Amino acid sequence: MNYVEKVLKNLKKLNPNEPEFHQAATEILTTLAPVVDKHPEYEAAGLLERFVEPERVVMFRVPWIDDKGKVHVNKGYRVQFNSAIGPYKGGLRFHPSVNLSIIKFLGLEQILKNSLTGLPIGGGKGGSDFDPKGKSDREIMAFCQSFMTELYRHVGADTDVPAGDIGVGGREIGYLFGQYKRIRNEHVGVLTGRGLAYGGSLVRTEATGYGLVYITAEAMKARGDSFKGKTVIISGSGNVAIYACEKAQSLGAKVVAMYDSNGYIYDPVGIKLDIIKDIKEVKRGRIKEYAERVAGATYKEGCSGIWTIPCDVALPCATQNEIDENSAKILVKNGVKYVAEGANMPSTLEAISVFQNGGVVFLPAKAANAGGVATSALEMAQSSGRMFWSFEEVDEKLKNIMVNIYHNIDKAAKEYGYDGNYVMGANIAGFIKVATAMMAHGIV
Ligand code: NDP
Repeated sequence: MNYVEKVLKNLKKLNPNEPEFHQAATEILTTLAPVVDKHPEYEAAGLLERFVEPERVVMFRVPWIDDKGKVHVNKGYRVQFNSAIGPYKGGLRFHPSVNLSIIKFLGLEQILKNSLTGLPIGGGKGGSDFDPKGKSDREIMAFCQSFMTELYRHVGADTDVPAGDIGVGGREIGYLFGQYKRIRNEHVGVLTGRGLAYGGSLVRTEATGYGLVYITAEAMKARGDSFKGKTVIISGSGNVAIYACEKAQSLGAKVVAMYDSNGYIYDPVGIKLDIIKDIKEVKRGRIKEYAERVAGATYKEGCSGIWTIPCDVALPCATQNEIDENSAKILVKNGVKYVAEGANMPSTLEAISVFQNGGVVFLPAKAANAGGVATSALEMAQSSGRMFWSFEEVDEKLKNIMVNIYHNIDKAAKEYGYDGNYVMGANIAGFIKVATAMMAHGIV
């Protein structure tokens, strides 16, 4: 049994009942075999064993009171996974599916993603099994205040800087920040994704979706291709999906389908994004309203049917494991040419193989959706420097970062003999920097 196999076997034994964490660790570690073969000193230093073990896991009780006076208790998590190259950084997810396995998979991915941005940020992730859907603003505030009443002891502008993720947008970040400031009496960059009136950065809202399209456009450019005239499917209709749609449309693509967790809409002439924004951002409604408001558009219950719509580009932007092997086969059969992951781990391991064997250009999440955290790091830089950059300035930096990520993962894939395999390229390029820093720090 080689080093990687030994570490994976042990990880599964020591962390039972964590399937998402096993999946992410398997995807990452198996691609690192050529790197650890080249560096026998890593095994001697127990590097992989340390890499897959979070530096710290905090789990806590989050009690709050609803509008009827009823007491609820949720679970809160913060996994501080790896601080070798900078303070822990990664989002908070509020969704009923959240558990330790999901937070650990996200945290592990985050280490490599943050490394790929080229900026000094370590990896972390957190959240709660709280469901913000259908809650009043006051209930959301009560929950966020309770969550931060514990979290404040573990985070800090130079220690751990959380951001948003599923279920945590500008409103939640505002309440979390307000409570942190109240407890610590510090107005510092302890959270990113803040409002523009209190330390936020322009472009942060758009960053993940825009970045996803920038990196895909660069992969297209390298092949003499572009978004112009392409038919695109985007899953989800949240923050990442909406701004991926906006940028893809601005580059001349036709986005024909999107979904929320109930079902998908199909608009053969191209989605009218202002209507999606009105439904999802303003009214916090359901996507099926789109088909009621737009003639010629249709709505179907259930999500997976979206992948049966023929397209040139698929941008999964909702959640983990939304594309399974079967959906991937249908996409390939229908001629998809590019798949770029806006969500974290939206493709199963089997689906990734189908794409790679089917000649699809596949850009994995840790590279493709790194624009969000990269812009968060730009927000941190502005906070520390007491500066405020223009939209154009931040957008230009974001674009450069995404273009660089594409070329770095392309180069790493080629160097290790896996030309065009961006799963290999992203994991290797991200890992080498973290491994170098961990080796420099000794056994810690
Ligand atoms: P949002 O909460 O804004 O949107 C999530 C969208 O996905 C919603 O449309 C939601 O539907 C849908 N969704 C969530 N869970 C499911 C499910 N189980 N089945 C079907 N649809 C689902 O989140 P974000 O846009 O911020 O995040 C989306 C993905 O992108 C996540 O994987 C996240 O980790 C990743 N990501 C986000 C970044 C960011 O900057 N926001 C940065 C990097 C990655 P509904 O409206 O019904 O809830």
